[in-house]
Amino acid sequence: MNVIFLASDGWNPAVGNDASGILINGRYLVDTGYFLADNLKRAGFEPQNIEHLFFTHLHHDHYMALPQLLYWYLQTGKELSRLHIYGPRKDVRRVVDLSIAFLQAGADKPFYNNCSYPSVHELEPGDMIELPDVEIDTGSSLHPVDCICYRFEERKTHKVLGITGDTFYRENIPQTLHDCDILVHETALADSRSDINDPPVCLHSSIDISLLTARESRAKRLFVIHFAKSKAQSVLSSAAELSGIEVVYPELFVPYEV
Ligand SMILES: [Zn+2]
Ligand SMILES: [Zn+2]
Repeated sequence: MNVIFLASDGWNPAVGNDASGILINGRYLVDTGYFLADNLKRAGFEPQNIEHLFFTHLHHDHYMALPQLLYWYLQTGKELSRLHIYGPRKDVRRVVDLSIAFLQAGADKPFYNNCSYPSVHELEPGDMIELPDVEIDTGSSLHPVDCICYRFEERKTHKVLGITGDTFYRENIPQTLHDCDILVHETALADSRSDINDPPVCLHSSIDISLLTARESRAKRLFVIHFAKSKAQSVLSSAAELSGIEVVYPELFVPYEV
């Protein structure tokens, strides 16, 4: 299994970066960020070839490029029904509906006649997703909107990739994302420190929280994302002081073997 990071930055990314977007085996995309089409092309992929899109949660920095992906399908004549979109039950269908309405904004008639509808999978934490080459377990993260964490296990190799989405610490996350070869944890609060009993209002994580989840889930490597590259050195130094786990701030557009 391999993973390519299309983005690593926060909600207000530097030029050349984006806020979210993780590509697994060139076919499974987790969150879209803002600049999905550009990002996929830079990584050597065509947007309309993505057929499985997993949303951790429906905050703007994670879904704003959904209309862009749908547009690529429509412009290349590919049936939208071939696109599977997974996400929290509370929000995912509404965001898909709004995205399609946005693309059909013609005042007199819709831009795209008789277009099909994506296959929307409204997830509850604990749902399993069975695909030919991967088995995906889900759980709930802790964020101001419903957020799903995903555990991808490749059937052939039993390699495991865990993705937290945006979250503070929650006991069930290490249970869902157990024994990851790579755990991808958001670290939006960078090298600050958090009190586990006093979560910040934003419900994001600092490096000590990311490491706590990594330790409890027995992750082999921890990849930290969702903060500016300018903070990477201090986050990695803090991580080295706190723990022996290998911590990585990923390079963009290059495959990492899980
Ligand atoms: Zn968020
Ligand atoms: Zn976010």
